[in-house]
Amino acid sequence: MSDKSYLDWPFLEDHHRELAGLLDAWTEKEIKPFEDDEEDVNALSKKFVRMLGEAGFLQYSVPAEYGGAHKSLDVRSLCICRETLARTTGLADFAFAMQGLGSGAISLFGTSELKAEYLPKVLTGEAIPAFALTEPDAGSDAGNLSSTAVEDGDDYILNGTKTFISNAGIADFYCMFVRTSDEGARGLTCFVLDADTPGFELVESLNVIAPHPLGTIRMTNCRVPKSKMLGKVGEGFKVAMSNLDIFRSTVGAASLGFARRALDEAIARTKERHVFGQPLSGFQFTQGKLADMATEIDASALLIYRAAWTRDCVADRVTREAAMAKMYATEAAQVVIDHAVQLFGGMGVLVGTPVERLYREIRAMRIYEGTTDVQKIVIATQLLK
Ligand SMILES: Cc1cc2nc3c(=O)[nH]c(=O)nc-3n(C[C@H](O)[C@H](O)[C@H](O)COP(=O)(O)OP(=O)(O)OC[C@H]3O[C@@H](n4cnc5c(N)ncnc54)[C@H](O)[C@@H]3O)c2cc1C
Repeated sequence: MSDKSYLDWPFLEDHHRELAGLLDAWTEKEIKPFEDDEEDVNALSKKFVRMLGEAGFLQYSVPAEYGGAHKSLDVRSLCICRETLARTTGLADFAFAMQGLGSGAISLFGTSELKAEYLPKVLTGEAIPAFALTEPDAGSDAGNLSSTAVEDGDDYILNGTKTFISNAGIADFYCMFVRTSDEGARGLTCFVLDADTPGFELVESLNVIAPHPLGTIRMTNCRVPKSKMLGKVGEGFKVAMSNLDIFRSTVGAASLGFARRALDEAIARTKERHVFGQPLSGFQFTQGKLADMATEIDASALLIYRAAWTRDCVADRVTREAAMAKMYATEAAQVVIDHAVQLFGGMGVLVGTPVERLYREIRAMRIYEGTTDVQKIVIATQLLK
């Protein structure tokens, strides 16, 4: 059983503690039976979205005016949900996270009409959103993307290709970042694009080491009304970065969930496994590794809940704090999980064991929503400005 003492930290309030207990019990009962299931991730992810919606946990993905639990997105609640779900399965965490990340641009920058059209369906799990920024030639350098939107009367005509898009193929709508002028990052604009818009297609599904719905999509002369713009013309980069300011800390939280599970598994295994006539946990080498793992987990949790609390209670933008939390927690979780695999010996690399699954799950976290290098650039830019 993972350490829960962090729930008493002053960053959290009683309703967060209550949420952690409720979701933990629900996950154990409803999600755990699917823990090893990697067969049809698209179908399973949609199922998780529906289950989370029916159980009421998607109320943390939208603001209160549209049925959500809090006036604005509460980062601490999002972190607790992701941490808790990730301890059991990465796919359930993914399904939950994408409801918030995919629709976050609408929650933050949408008109009241757009919010009313999309957010209630996100809340129930009836609609699945996606966040479409990355392109084949623009990942870390997202301000350099080349998909275009050209004004045409009351509409814009969108063209271009996006890749590595989570929920591609199963999403009902995409918050789509496109170029409306040549002014670099200042030339981007965000639109909501419905998946049934003529000219929109899934080019291919992408199969990654820890499978989840992911793919490449293409827009060919997709007509989108001006009323579906999020923010103003030229504000697309700001829309994307404001969304990431909220969700980056939550990527850290999901990594923390993976790391906590790895430590739990390692403690159980080293107590039960006997080598050289005694439990593995009796050796000081082993104990040192477990101590390192626990310390990395607490350090990650402190950075994550500091960033989340700052965003909820102190400041609208937490660029530095969120980047530190994401960078530290994802890198630390990779090391913690690697130690767990090592402590399991050969069993650690046996396909299907929890630590083997965690070893695959953690890897992409150090890449998406900004690689570790990009987080360093973000932090240094804040320091030097
Ligand atoms: C599983 C998964 C899910 C994803 N989901 C989404 C999604 O839903 N929506 C979306 O828009 N995108 C998504 N992405 C894309 C993701 O955000 C990008 O992969 C990421 O931003 C890195 O971009 P890239 O792959 O083009 O790598 P590159 O930008 O080509 O980077 C390659 C390497 O160069 C390094 N690098 C880049 N710039 C610098 C620099 N200035 N100095 C030093 N090193 C540098 C990077 O750190 C990296 O190590 C997802 C990716 C994955 C793997």
